[in-house]
Amino acid sequence: MTNTERTFIAIKPDGVQRGLVTKILNRFEQRGYKLVAIKMLNASQELLDQHYAEHVGKPFYPKMSAFMRSGPIVATVWEGKDAVQQGRKLLGATNPADSLPGTIRGDFGIDLGRNVCHGSDSVESANREIKLWFKAEELVTYEQFQAKWIYE
Ligand code: UDP
Ligand code: MG
Repeated sequence: MTNTERTFIAIKPDGVQRGLVTKILNRFEQRGYKLVAIKMLNASQELLDQHYAEHVGKPFYPKMSAFMRSGPIVATVWEGKDAVQQGRKLLGATNPADSLPGTIRGDFGIDLGRNVCHGSDSVESANREIKLWFKAEELVTYEQFQAKWIYE
């Protein structure tokens, strides 16, 4: 397992509007993950249709994608050992009602359609999503000096 696995984590419009940006970023920072890209944007329908390709056409998709366009999103990429699966754990279950306290959704959400964050579900999805949301030059290369205190 490498320490350079990457995952795409987004703070959805509800997370931004509710002032949860720094709290959510902090969950990843304090765990030890390395922030390699971050930006704020209003997502287009086109971007969302590509991002959520697996959900386009499902009954919930029109409402969900309209919600995703209802305000800015904070898009981030985090790097570290097992970043994708550990990131999903930090987020909690898709439905906040099923998320354990201590997870982001379990601490900050109630309803499925307002679950405050997105996280890639596999390494393949992560690579696809990172390419979709970021240009190559927006992924920043630098040394994480605390790495030796995080990894044995
Ligand atoms: N979603 C929804 N209604 C549904 C199913 C999903 O609003 O019936 C939303 C929910 O916010 C979820 C997103 O669509 O985060 C993508 O669904 P997915 O199953 O991929 O969950 P995730 O990967 O975000 O946990
Ligand atoms: Mg998903």
